[in-house]
Order: sequence, then structure tokens, then C-alpha cells
Amino acid sequence: MTAIPDIMLSNGQNIPQFGFGVFLVKPEETVAAVSSALQVGYRHIDTAEMYGNENEVGEAIGRSDLDRGDVFVTSKLANDAHEPDDARRAFDESLKALGFDYLDLFLIHWPLPTRYDGDYVSTWKTLEEFYREGRARSIGVSNFQPRHLRRLHAECDIPPAVNQIEVNPYLTQDEVRGFCAEHQIAIEAWSPLGRGNVLADPMVESIARRVGKTPAQVVLRWHIERGDIVFPKSVNPERIKENMGIFDFELPGEDVEAITLLNRDERTGPDPDKFDGRR
Ligand code: NAD
Repeated sequence: MTAIPDIMLSNGQNIPQFGFGVFLVKPEETVAAVSSALQVGYRHIDTAEMYGNENEVGEAIGRSDLDRGDVFVTSKLANDAHEPDDARRAFDESLKALGFDYLDLFLIHWPLPTRYDGDYVSTWKTLEEFYREGRARSIGVSNFQPRHLRRLHAECDIPPAVNQIEVNPYLTQDEVRGFCAEHQIAIEAWSPLGRGNVLADPMVESIARRVGKTPAQVVLRWHIERGDIVFPKSVNPERIKENMGIFDFELPGEDVEAITLLNRDERTGPDPDKFDGRR
């Protein structure tokens, strides 16, 4: 079985650098998809309250012959639950849906700077409670810009272990990645395949032909070479397996650079500075 490297987070916890994302995986498809992933060696699952499939993620892990401690599981706080009491309830509900007594990682899904009077600080302090109680082994954020992270740094005790942001060859996110590198915040790259958009890029295709890998494998390997954590999504067992086949080759520095130069600052998802979580 392919060895997936771990990344050590700033609090000393290890996270597998590669995992499985379940955004837009229908609840009725989730047990089969997660089971396929676990069977071929994935040990890291990324879900969220808003994906509506935490229950099925927990069920797939429970049905497998793995122990809870063998699988790293992340979930995220719903956008309508940022008030501290709502966040406490939402966290309990996520644990209950998954059937767990702890999460490996719990994230604020979006900063929502235009909502809740821009107060993601109180929300973060509530996540600090979950961390201190040991019910979240690590806590982090998602879609936070440097200005949001600076506020947490200035006003909170526990720094975020990760920032999960949209990254792909057309959106290389140099500014946020640079800030996070300086502050020991690991980057998780969401939609690492640009939801499929970057796979037909001629540069990606030509590198794939030369190295004898698929475009998806080349793009995923590019993320790994850059040190980011990735969890591509697929419900197709062949692709689930294909996406994991990225640890038996390396991309030379010039290929990593050539793919990075494809950047167009082009998002597929919302702008975190404007998104209010209601759309
Ligand atoms: P992705 O970049 O993983 O792309 C998924 C798409 O690519 C799917 O349509 C799939 O059919 C296709 N695909 C997958 N493997 C392929 C292959 N080998 N060849 C060709 N096509 C392939 O997109 P995603 O699901 O949006 O992102 C991955 C994960 O990131 C999500 O499941 C979720 O866990 C996380 N995410 C987080 C946020 C956030 O706000 N924090 C937002 C979006 C996604």
C-alpha cells in the first residue's frame, strides 16, 4: 500500500497530507464512496455539517475494520451557528452525527466578515473551548484571509492549526500561503483539482504525458510538492484509487514552477471577504 506522508501541525498533532473530501457527495452515496476510499488506503476524511453527510461518514468508518484512531476526521461549523451557544450545540451535533467522542480537526467554515458584526473572534474562542476539553484534537479555520488571521493572532490564545482555502493551478494563493507559512499555519487546499477545470490545461496534459501519469495525478502531486494538504473528491472507485497514486513519483522543480505560473487568480468558489454564508 502507498505510504501517505504526515504533516506535523503547530500543536504537534500529525495529519495525513492526503485524504478524501465529501463535499457534494449525496448522503446515499457517501457510505460507498468513503468505504472505497478507506479500502484503498485513505486515512483522512474531510466533511462538514453543511455537506449533510456526517452521519454516513461515521457509518462508513464504523463499518470498516479500522479503529477510530486510525482515521483522521475533520468537520466544520455551519455558517448559521457562529454565535457561541449555537456553535456549542452545532459541535455536539456534529459529534453525535458522526458517532464520535472527538474530532481530529474542527474548523470555522467561513469567516463571514459581513455577518455577526464581523465577530469571528468569539466564534474562535468557542472552538478554543472544544480544544481545551480535548473534544477537538486540533482547531483551525477555512477561507480566512491574512487580515482575519491577524485578528485571531492579536485577540486569541490558541493559533489556528490549519487554514483550509481554495487552491489549484489557476488560483495559487501566494499571499495567504505566504502569511500562513510565516505563522506555522498548515494549508489545506480545497477543490485541489479546481473541480475538474484544470485537468484539460495543455501544460498539465503535456507534463502528464511526459511523466506517465494522469492530469489529476500531476495536479495532486503539484500540491504535495508545495507542502499543502489535499483531499480530492470523487464517487468513482477507479478515480478514488487513481487519485491516491501520487506517492510513487516526484515532479521536478521546473514542472512545479511551470504549473504555478498558470495562476490566473481565478476562484471557482465565493470570495471570503464578501460571502455571508446565505447564498
Ligand atoms: P475537487 O477539486 O476535488 O474536484 C472534484 C471534481 O473532480 C469532481 O467533479 C470529480 O468528479 C472530478 N475528479 C475527481 N477525481 C478525478 C480524476 N482522477 N480525473 C478526472 N476528474 C476527477 O473538488 P471539491 O470536491 O470541490 O473539493 C475537494 C474537497 O475540498 C471537498 O470534497 C471538500 O471536502 C473540500 N472543500 C472545502 C470547501 C471549504 O469551503 N472549506 C469548499 C469546497 C470544497
